[in-house]
Amino acid sequence: MEYKAYTIHNFRSIPQLSILSEQELFEIEVVSQILPFKTNSYVVDELIKWDNVPEDPLFILTFPQRGMLIPEHFDIIATLLKNKADKKEISKAANEIRMQLNPHPAGQLELNVPQVSGDKLTGVQHKYLETVLFFPSQGQTCHAYCTFCFRWPQFTGIDSLKFASKETELLVKYLKSQPKASNILFTGGDPLVMSAKLLGSYIEPMLQDDLPHLETIRIGTKALSYWPYKFFADKDSEDLLEIFSKVGKSGKHLSIMAHFNHPRELKTRAVKKAIAAIRSTGAEIRTQSPILRHINDDPKLWISMWKKQVNLGCIPYYMFVARDTGAQHYFNVSLDEAVDTFRKAYSKVSGVCRTVRGPSMSAAPGKVQIIGTIDMNEEKLFLLQFLQARNPEWVNKPFFAKYNPDAVWLNDLEPALGEDKFFWEDEYNSLYDLKHEELYPNIED
Ligand SMILES: *Cc1c(COP(=O)(O)O)cnc(C)c1O
Ligand code: SF4
Repeated sequence: MEYKAYTIHNFRSIPQLSILSEQELFEIEVVSQILPFKTNSYVVDELIKWDNVPEDPLFILTFPQRGMLIPEHFDIIATLLKNKADKKEISKAANEIRMQLNPHPAGQLELNVPQVSGDKLTGVQHKYLETVLFFPSQGQTCHAYCTFCFRWPQFTGIDSLKFASKETELLVKYLKSQPKASNILFTGGDPLVMSAKLLGSYIEPMLQDDLPHLETIRIGTKALSYWPYKFFADKDSEDLLEIFSKVGKSGKHLSIMAHFNHPRELKTRAVKKAIAAIRSTGAEIRTQSPILRHINDDPKLWISMWKKQVNLGCIPYYMFVARDTGAQHYFNVSLDEAVDTFRKAYSKVSGVCRTVRGPSMSAAPGKVQIIGTIDMNEEKLFLLQFLQARNPEWVNKPFFAKYNPDAVWLNDLEPALGEDKFFWEDEYNSLYDLKHEELYPNIED
């Protein structure tokens, strides 16, 4: 199959879309002025069930939905388009609306960007001691865009909002200065939009003898869902697999952090072949997904997803809660529903699927798991814990919050049992006053 991208500029040429009304097509156009829209020939021809459209979860996964914008924002853009406003005017209005959608959740800009010898490493985030996140500048796009994506500002072309780096050299220097960083996580966008050659130029420097403390290389990707041909049918597929093998041969572990949202993504011949190809290099595939209204808010889907993943040789890893950005109001489920769905699914799979953890919020202080709800002294409570935290000492220490059936994110929660703050709050607030170097002293400087 040939990769063909569809965006706002050519999506009307997708033959299957003839089942939509002109109004429905117009709505796609309106929403995609604000939130990025891209899908492709594989998603359209092999994933979406067109006789279910417009409710089909895989349709909703990449095609913008009217409900993703609040009516006020929708109307502003719809009016401009109907009046044939000029491009500049539309993009000005679109930018103003984007700024109201919390483009950088979880303090990503202020807190996590490290420095090396006084230079800011703008393509790097270092939040948890053992894992450095790297955003290779040429992996800041994806084979298709998920409508719910919290990284949406990266795709909208507002340059100052981009994290990016060409500077592998600086990255290596930084990694050398961080002996506790045992993991590097290549992320994006999707690093596997890059050619094998380009990817190799980022990965190979990580395999040098002088980074012995770097044990694991991870690549976060949705290519298995959006372009599985990448791994066995593209012209440089073999080179890509060769790079994967090289990591293993160098004595490091390669983990593909694959993003799957729905069991149907695991059913095509292409994805099965791709998974087998990756596994043949010695790499492991770990899987993660947020829980999303309209897409996978049903325990049956998670049971099916985790079982299929394990059968294909993948390791279920995280269930996330949708982040507080972009179209969260359209996709989010309450924390209460998330933990209930997780429990219903988790309780019906065997231990081999129970490597999965969640539901988890990637919030500013860390990844917070909702363990469950309990009744204590006639008060209903949420029980929570950190799976990852800015301070490793916070991890795995259960804490309580008042039960709130409407809460969708950490900042909707309040301390319980007469406490006026969470145990980590004072320290977290004091971290805001620390510069990154103080959080992660750079031993070379
Ligand atoms: C999730 C995440 C990681 C990786 O966490 P693991 O629990 O080790 O998978 C690293 N850095 C940031 C900023 C993250 O959000
Ligand atoms: S593949 Fe990942 S980064 Fe790309 S749009 Fe989907 S969620 Fe966002």
